[in-house]
Amino acid sequence: MGYSSFPADFASNPNLDGVVISYKYFGSIGTVASPYNKGRTTTQEVGHWLNLYHIWGNSSSSSCSVDDLVTDTPNQYSYNFSCPNFPTTDACTASSPGIMFMNYMDYTDDACMNMFTNGQITRMRALFDSSNGIRRQILELADYIITPPVISGGNPICSSNSQNYVVSGAPSGFYWDVNSFLSIYGSNTNSTVNLNVANSISNGDGMVCIKSSSGVILAKKYVWVGPPIISSISGPTYFQAGYNSQTYYANFSGGQPSLYNTSDYEWLLNHDIYDIYSYGYYANAYFYNASSYYLSVRAQNTCGWGSKANLIVFAYDYSPSPPYPNPTSDVLNVELGQSSSSKSQGESITYDIRLYDGQGNLLRQTSSKGGTVQFSVSNLPDGIYYLHIYDGVNSKPEMQQIVVEH
Ligand SMILES: [Zn+2]
Repeated sequence: MGYSSFPADFASNPNLDGVVISYKYFGSIGTVASPYNKGRTTTQEVGHWLNLYHIWGNSSSSSCSVDDLVTDTPNQYSYNFSCPNFPTTDACTASSPGIMFMNYMDYTDDACMNMFTNGQITRMRALFDSSNGIRRQILELADYIITPPVISGGNPICSSNSQNYVVSGAPSGFYWDVNSFLSIYGSNTNSTVNLNVANSISNGDGMVCIKSSSGVILAKKYVWVGPPIISSISGPTYFQAGYNSQTYYANFSGGQPSLYNTSDYEWLLNHDIYDIYSYGYYANAYFYNASSYYLSVRAQNTCGWGSKANLIVFAYDYSPSPPYPNPTSDVLNVELGQSSSSKSQGESITYDIRLYDGQGNLLRQTSSKGGTVQFSVSNLPDGIYYLHIYDGVNSKPEMQQIVVEH
């Protein structure tokens, strides 16, 4: 239903501090399920988060000697489910008014719970004591958690130029901190800080933050460091050569500032800029001839040009009778006519037919003067394969994508 950390865990495990509630038992409407449909799971878990144990003590083995460390809750042997009648007594509290099954820290139905005791409240409030309470920072920093400090400064930061960042609305005793992509030059406790790219960093996601004197992050801002990184190119990689254009997109990783100008991008297709038209973050490319192509793109920001992202693309010849069936489970039939290139040279040719897997491993090979060639694929795993047909004239094969599906 839910779980939470205890305040004692905070010092050793601050990142796991908090409360988790199943969506079926959270709040009082929507997906919430009876009889835990009044939000009391949250009440109990926040109770644990504020140092309260279960009303019967915190032992999984029931006992009268295990206490919840609160003096005004009756001693209780074990937990209660459903909604007992009042009064209910047990082995630890044998006389009326009996045990406190209506306390938020028992396991009774939500509708049956209605109270914390004064002792429980005192135990929870002690966590907020201004001198040594474990959760006192919530009170001290409440104003800054509700209205965080505001960080401003230029983006990106280049290795050639440091940048001044400014904070407003920070509490006294605050300090600046950065992640490993950045370094601070000079003081980190003034409202203005001087940021540099860290040694040996070329580019990536920098982060700058404002921390309270006790180390709580009150505000953070991501700042891109160095030239842009295009992580990949997306677009078609296997299609028929011809006069239709294919569209490709440059994908950026991380929190990089957007680059809107077409001139901030450079697309290349086999080092030939004429068959590709850049529109900035995307480009249209033409593949008139069957071949494999090398597509690349790079981008620049105020720090300079980033490195290239690449994509290998195959454009295949038109084939009058494609292999069949496709997808196939047992056999693949390949009908061999005369290719247009061999026909034009009037030659009688020998075909070389090969089947590769997606990693380029040769799985099947045969040669033929024509007619129909049959490959067995019944023992190949499901997946995508590539059929290459060399006609002995054209140095580049005709390529077909084959799907094996059992
Ligand atoms: Zn509990």
